[in-house]
Amino acid sequence: MATEASTKPKTPSKTGLEAGLKKLGLERDIDLALHLPLRYEDETQLQRLCDAQDGLPIQFEGTVTDSEVVFRPRRQLLVTVDDGTDACKLRFFTFFPSHHKTLAAGQRVRIRGDVKRGFFGIEMVHPVFRAAGGPLPTALTPVYPTAAGLGQNPLRRAVLAALARMAAAGELAETIPSQFLAEIVGLSSYSLHSSLSFLHNPQADVSLAALDDRSHPAWLRLKAEELLAQQLSQAQARVDRLAMRAPALTPRGETSFLQRLQAVLPFALTRAQGRVVIEISHDLNQRQPMHRLLQGDVGSGKTVVAALAAAQCMDAGWQCALMAPTEILAEQHFRKLVGWLAPLGIEVAWLTGSQGKRERAAMLAKVASGQAQLVVGTHAVMQDKVEFAKLALAIIDEQHRFGVRQRLALRSKMNPNEGAQLSHPHMLMMTATPIPRTLAMSVLADLDVSTIDELPPGRTPVLTKVLSESKRFDVIERVQGQISQGRQVYWVCPLIEESEALDLSNATATHAELSEAMPDVMVGLLHSRMPVAEKKAVMALFEAGEMGILVSTTVIEVGVDVPNASLMVIEHAERFGLSQLHQLRGRVGRGAAASACVLLYGTPEGGRLGELARERLKVMAQTNDGFLVAQRDLELRGPGEFLGARQSGAALLRFADLQTDAPLLEWARKTAQAMLQSHSICATQHTQRWLGGRAELLSA
Ligand code: ADP
Ligand code: MG
Repeated sequence: MATEASTKPKTPSKTGLEAGLKKLGLERDIDLALHLPLRYEDETQLQRLCDAQDGLPIQFEGTVTDSEVVFRPRRQLLVTVDDGTDACKLRFFTFFPSHHKTLAAGQRVRIRGDVKRGFFGIEMVHPVFRAAGGPLPTALTPVYPTAAGLGQNPLRRAVLAALARMAAAGELAETIPSQFLAEIVGLSSYSLHSSLSFLHNPQADVSLAALDDRSHPAWLRLKAEELLAQQLSQAQARVDRLAMRAPALTPRGETSFLQRLQAVLPFALTRAQGRVVIEISHDLNQRQPMHRLLQGDVGSGKTVVAALAAAQCMDAGWQCALMAPTEILAEQHFRKLVGWLAPLGIEVAWLTGSQGKRERAAMLAKVASGQAQLVVGTHAVMQDKVEFAKLALAIIDEQHRFGVRQRLALRSKMNPNEGAQLSHPHMLMMTATPIPRTLAMSVLADLDVSTIDELPPGRTPVLTKVLSESKRFDVIERVQGQISQGRQVYWVCPLIEESEALDLSNATATHAELSEAMPDVMVGLLHSRMPVAEKKAVMALFEAGEMGILVSTTVIEVGVDVPNASLMVIEHAERFGLSQLHQLRGRVGRGAAASACVLLYGTPEGGRLGELARERLKVMAQTNDGFLVAQRDLELRGPGEFLGARQSGAALLRFADLQTDAPLLEWARKTAQAMLQSHSICATQHTQRWLGGRAELLSA
């Protein structure tokens, strides 16, 4: 007994509370006030045991008829409580003297917990208990997300205290002028203050469903406030950007790089390419920095658009930088651009983390002197040591794979040598993962968007098949068929996020399997842990057509361009996001031959999980349109996929949901514009309150 008493949990000390709050990131009063309950429990009513339903919580009062410690199947305190309508068994696997005292036979008790209805009647495991009688609460009981060691009660008290402090200090005063609130029904029924008070302490008669699905007006108000803060900060960023200076890159005439490049291109631009080239060219010719996203499906031809923008920049006598997320991709750009631009007399420098010291020093010198007009590379391009003579255009390929901070770093690379005023480079960001409209409006509102919505002629659409892993042998036969026709095949192995080592063993096993099945065919293996030189050697063999099959982890996901490849097999396709699958699939169908993509899913045994995977993957078989795929992906997986893990802006929407709250988002966008025009003080107060120091990250 004595040892049990000493393990009794104590109420957390002051410092325990502080540590817990810190762990939850709740340091300022506003953080606490906005820490909203996950759900609510209704303790305002007593129910009858005979009405108890399996799996649902109930609260009842009754008399303890039996209380004993039993040792089988394991040591536990077993208590029986009868309320006159039925009896319920309570099981406690850990228990203290207080349990014995309150739950002694003959005591009247109040019990709350989840009901398990079984063969032997009603049971509860570790219910909440107290002596019967006493007043029932009049409000629903909030249940907060919390961290280990911080109980609901101290957390709730801290939240309510913070709310009271803010209210007393006038820190919850309204910032949204009432005429804007009037535009949406229900938006003015609760002020910010009353919304928060309500959500932390809802009255018993409220609909739990409206709280759960966040359709209650108090929720509506919070979501509106949050979206407005986001839109305001982006609109402000745009205003700030328009006040910045950039060199106007005016196109030149006949003998310019631009004209000459267009003349030597082996193809005519598509109509869509032509349109975005004009949009970009117009921006580059302005005295404000461009901030434009170029989106186009895989294979839509973004590289040539980038090259034309670079040419316009170099024509004006400035430098351009192009950055790609992987070395293979950067090198492809480098080779393609050198192929096009070197004949025009343009010098292209190459910067990457893997290059030798001497080569790197030579490249850095060329960049710093301005001898190299174009710089292509990986993240290495924006490291501190890299100094540009006169950078005016930064192009970022696969922008979502770079973080906000990295893009800011590139922006700061421009020398402030334009008179007194700081000058910024134009930015062109490219992505093959089309960003759904709601998302673009929300998180990327400070971007102008150009879209290439057309593929170059002569492409054959990729036929996509979703097959169970049990069809693996048929698929291998199909691979053989393609090889015998002189075609090449990609085989992509699953991404297992937790473990790079597992990724590798999978790819290695498949590589061995295919090599054995097709002894006459050269089968290559490519994975992210290989030294860069080895990767390049493998890629070169595949590009040259000598290698029939390339087995890889996802390193080929972007940029590889081998028109003779006509089949792609993706194992365990259910482990990829749909947009990622779409990008992968874009590696085939680049030549005139009919191409296919096979998505293998699940375990050989199939089963329910396999079926769910198949349903999701069917989207891929139904459409080749990257925008539709992206829209479905957003619905299924949320915005993370598009913004990249490192883009902290994604995490900043805590209350609103871009799918269900699209009308509120539209309202916020319009209201932000109007508030900046006519209520700029309110606007500043609003963003300050909601975003504090995070505003800059959001809008970069
Ligand atoms: P992505 O948009 O995926 O980066 P790329 O720029 O790599 O696409 O272009 C894919 C392929 O299409 C390249 O081989 C490129 O040379 C070719 N291409 C680009 N534009 C055209 C065009 N207008 N006509 C024909 N081929 C084109
Ligand atoms: Mg590309």
